Amino acid sequence: MSRSVLITGGAGFIGSNFVHFWLEEYPEDRVVVLDALTYAGNLANLQTAVTNPRFRFYPGRIEDRTVVDGICRSERITHVVNFAAESHNDRSMVDPTGLIDANVTGVGILLRASKHFDIERFLHVSTDEVYGQIENGQFRETDPLLPRTPYSAGKAGGEMLVRAYHIAYGIPTVVTRGSNTFGPYQYPEKLLPFFITRALQDRPLPLYGTGTQVREWLYVTDHCRGIRSALLNGAVGEVYNLGGGNELTNLDITKLVLQLLGKPDCLIRHVPDPRGSAHDARYALDCTRIGSLGWRPQQAMHDALERTVRWYCDHRAWWEAIVQSEAYRSFVAGYYGPILGDDL
Ligand code: NAD
Repeated sequence: MSRSVLITGGAGFIGSNFVHFWLEEYPEDRVVVLDALTYAGNLANLQTAVTNPRFRFYPGRIEDRTVVDGICRSERITHVVNFAAESHNDRSMVDPTGLIDANVTGVGILLRASKHFDIERFLHVSTDEVYGQIENGQFRETDPLLPRTPYSAGKAGGEMLVRAYHIAYGIPTVVTRGSNTFGPYQYPEKLLPFFITRALQDRPLPLYGTGTQVREWLYVTDHCRGIRSALLNGAVGEVYNLGGGNELTNLDITKLVLQLLGKPDCLIRHVPDPRGSAHDARYALDCTRIGSLGWRPQQAMHDALERTVRWYCDHRAWWEAIVQSEAYRSFVAGYYGPILGDDL
């Protein structure tokens, strides 16, 4: 039977990639996006979807009960995939107020609607950051949640609501915890698109501290495939890690980007770490559980990085419109100005 899939945050980075993925993979399904179009939401990410008769876009917030209920009713939603969130660690450390609304309250409103409208499956997109940091080994889904930034604390709070709604009301929930994701349409404030777009402008790259923090990188189409596996085949009430299996230090990935762009390493500026002791040293995920559903990352790191770098080279108009906007410029000036000084 065909589905009517509500994708919240579908105008953002992973959400918009998921919209394109789903429309292509499931020609019988309808895709409905609810997105608040915050600074990170961009209708340009959905340009090719908007002409599709199986696609609908609603501007609005997931905390807005009237909007959420109205969409579930009128669009006969069968599945919810919740990407909507304030997703940036650095911003969360400057001002955590908005993230509680989106990452916690909004999740509660979606869960309430899922109960009321008897949704078949509710998938909550979470992050490896809810675990905190790990020096050696890998996080398993049964490990405690020990978030260390306002962003990851908000994501952990949202997850607790998902867990409680499943236990208390039997809502058919599934949670995915993905690792650092990269690819096309990523707002140029996170490390990779920020550094790629700055290097393309020959601007210095502010690398926090020594750059020895280790991240596990996941290409966005692999993340979308993992969410699909969990949504369609995951056990109800379960949590699934989605790790890319590619561990690299921030310094190493920065050097790789510069190499791919043919730019010199001297663009790197080691700057004092604004996250201080809250900057997690390492994340790594055990993906045995999602592996049992047949998922594993398909993209080799170097190829995926090369493809991503090429995408930003080929889509200058997309990111230039963002980096020239007042909102972006004032965030970068306010956040990096004091750190970079004349190099801004
Ligand atoms: P993003 O910031 O690019 O997109 C977030 C989208 O949500 C934007 O379109 C924004 O307008 C929308 N939004 C924000 N608040 C909203 C609200 N209250 N109501 C409706 N829409 C709202 O983020 P992303 O990087 O695509 O991340 C998507 C999800 O995946 C997030 O939940 C994030 O925690 C999770 N995640 C991200 C990564 C990563 O590396 N990017 C890794 C693991 C998990």
